[in-house]
Amino acid sequence: MRIVLLGPPGAGKGTQAILLSKHCSIPHISTGEIMRAAISSGSPLGKKLKGFLDKGELVPDALVIDLMRERLADCPAGFLLDGFPRTVEQAKSLDILLEELNAPLAHVIELSVSEDILISRIKRRGKKSGRSDDTAEIAAKRLQIYWEETAPVTKFYEDAGKVQKIDGLGTVEEVQQRILNIVS
Ligand code: AMP
Repeated sequence: MRIVLLGPPGAGKGTQAILLSKHCSIPHISTGEIMRAAISSGSPLGKKLKGFLDKGELVPDALVIDLMRERLADCPAGFLLDGFPRTVEQAKSLDILLEELNAPLAHVIELSVSEDILISRIKRRGKKSGRSDDTAEIAAKRLQIYWEETAPVTKFYEDAGKVQKIDGLGTVEEVQQRILNIVS
């Protein structure tokens, strides 16, 4: 099964993606996690990525698409995408890639959460995660970029009749159940 999980930073995508990938026995592919791992490893790729992540800016499409092309070709049983696609350009490239692999998406699910709740969730997470981009200032910037660059991705999938939206408010279990109602 191939699933895309959409939603703004702080919507709970990461938490839900971990649970859902276990439930469906498919790999959880988080571009943010892949990039943070590259940065920690100190690789040349990581050095290129660090400035973008630290500032809360999107990594250029060409770089992200290359990364994902390699990763997705390696997932014959399906995958759960978390944090990709984040621009319409990435969504179009994903469509082409999946066509090449003859592997259509089963579900595109969006978690909706209001903006004031998102900022307080990100700040709370920052205290625990130590992520350099979980500060109030960078969180606000990431949200602004989300509305400008990533919200149109939802529209892109909506126009194709593919998006199912769910309320991201509630306990982890409640939100999980809403997602399971869609995928099972
Ligand atoms: P995340 O863990 O999904 O919140 O991503 C953290 C950061 O990684 C983002 O703020 C971006 O700097 C970068 N990033 C992750 N996924 C993408 C993507 N699909 N396109 C561009 N940048 C990304």
